[in-house]
Amino acid sequence: MDDELDELRAAAPEARVITDAAAMESYRRDQTPVVTPGQPRCVLLAGNTRDVMAALAWAQRHRVPVVPRGGGTSLAGGATAVDGCLLLSTARMTAILEIDPATELAVAQAGVVTADLDRAAAQHGLMYAPDPSSHEIATIGGNLATNAGGLRCVKYGVTRDSVLGLEVVLPGGRLLRTGRRTVKGVAGYDLTGLFTGSEGTLGVITSATLRLRPRPARYPVTMAAGFASFAAGAQAVTSILAAGIRPSMLELMDSATLRAIDQWKRTGFADGVQALLIAQDDSESADRGAALMRQACLAAGASTAEVSASEGESRQLLELRRLSYPAIERLGVALVEDVCVPRTRLPEMVARIEQAAARHDVYIATVAHAGDGNLHPVFVFERGLPEAPPAVWAAADEVFRAALELGGTLTGEHGVGMIKRRWLADELGPESMAVHQAIKNALDPDGIMNPGKVL
Ligand SMILES: Cc1cc2nc3c(=O)[nH]c(=O)nc-3n(C[C@H](O)[C@H](O)[C@H](O)COP(=O)(O)OP(=O)(O)OC[C@H]3O[C@@H](n4cnc5c(N)ncnc54)[C@H](O)[C@@H]3O)c2cc1C
Repeated sequence: MDDELDELRAAAPEARVITDAAAMESYRRDQTPVVTPGQPRCVLLAGNTRDVMAALAWAQRHRVPVVPRGGGTSLAGGATAVDGCLLLSTARMTAILEIDPATELAVAQAGVVTADLDRAAAQHGLMYAPDPSSHEIATIGGNLATNAGGLRCVKYGVTRDSVLGLEVVLPGGRLLRTGRRTVKGVAGYDLTGLFTGSEGTLGVITSATLRLRPRPARYPVTMAAGFASFAAGAQAVTSILAAGIRPSMLELMDSATLRAIDQWKRTGFADGVQALLIAQDDSESADRGAALMRQACLAAGASTAEVSASEGESRQLLELRRLSYPAIERLGVALVEDVCVPRTRLPEMVARIEQAAARHDVYIATVAHAGDGNLHPVFVFERGLPEAPPAVWAAADEVFRAALELGGTLTGEHGVGMIKRRWLADELGPESMAVHQAIKNALDPDGIMNPGKVL
């Protein structure tokens, strides 16, 4: 056993290999509260692509399972260790290799923190648009592996819409380059798309060529509107988008979320309001866009609707949205779920979530990236339990099935990971499952890449 680890250290001399159980402890878990992590055989902190190639060649030789890891912020158990694995972290690969303002692209190593790339792009008047709420702690590699979304998706799309090409190390250590540096390009299969969202089950992403966009000239203007029901708020979302307004953010919070924020911060926003819509416009005509959104909200029955008059006010209103998860987490263990439905079905989906909560007596607070039809029902349960109570899973099962019935999906942005595997076949069906398995077998015949995740 030790000989094998010596062999790994010799093959990847610039990497840091950790075998001490206490030092490995913080790498065993990600941010998913309901999964039990395994015990890794070792953690390898890769410094460069050569380390990753050597590590995957070693893992193949010795049939060691590999769990890739970036920032460890997965909410689906995707980066959770399995017993005996090589936990391969790309978090130290933090170089931004290139920013090319002329073609509006960046080349970044997998470990670059998402917000750092955006800040680097800002120095050239550009932005990296994908902005998961975890953007200060998650990495580009993890965002690519999960096809992460974020608050600005409603205008700029998800991570897949910002990736042009990838450098990937395949099981066994072979290096693959996918895609190109141009926005257009259709030579061959879309391998970049295949690896984007593959959750570490097909290979390890080491760097990426990413699309940048012109940075909005001003801080977005924010509009906040209160409604007597979530359904009325959802109707306002549909009206705003149908009117041709192009918001850069459309977030809807339910009454349970507002109450949690209010109990903590005494905002007063929960008084008489059952749902709060927070919308932003980052365009040059943002004042007009925000005013039009306010009108659409009032027409949809909003009891209050305010538009920020300064950047400070805009940030304050957005802060209400940012407080939602910390406020809910104060109430107990929070299992953040992630279903997505066609946005016209949002009111039905929320009604189904409320029914599931009542039937199983489970506390669920919901926050939605409403413009994308993406809901995060947060299941809250008592701290200190060894695992999530059965009622939580029964309610979650009902919520996932409702999303599928309404023409939606089990996961809009967090991924399948460990926690949604048992529902995947219900969404994909037998033919799609068979194609998935064939792709997996072709690239990872020994099944050592992130086993127990997705498939
Ligand atoms: C507070 C909070 C807010 C969040 N908000 C959002 C949000 O708004 N939108 C959203 O989409 N998600 C969100 N998430 C979930 C999470 O941040 C995303 O899934 C993120 O993309 C994970 O990035 P990471 O670097 O932490 O990856 P990890 O958690 O380390 O890994 C995630 C998955 O990617 C794989 N992986 C990691 N690095 C690589 C690599 N280099 N090559 C191949 N596979 C790799 C892992 O095996 C795992 O399956 C949030 C999480 C938290 C804790």
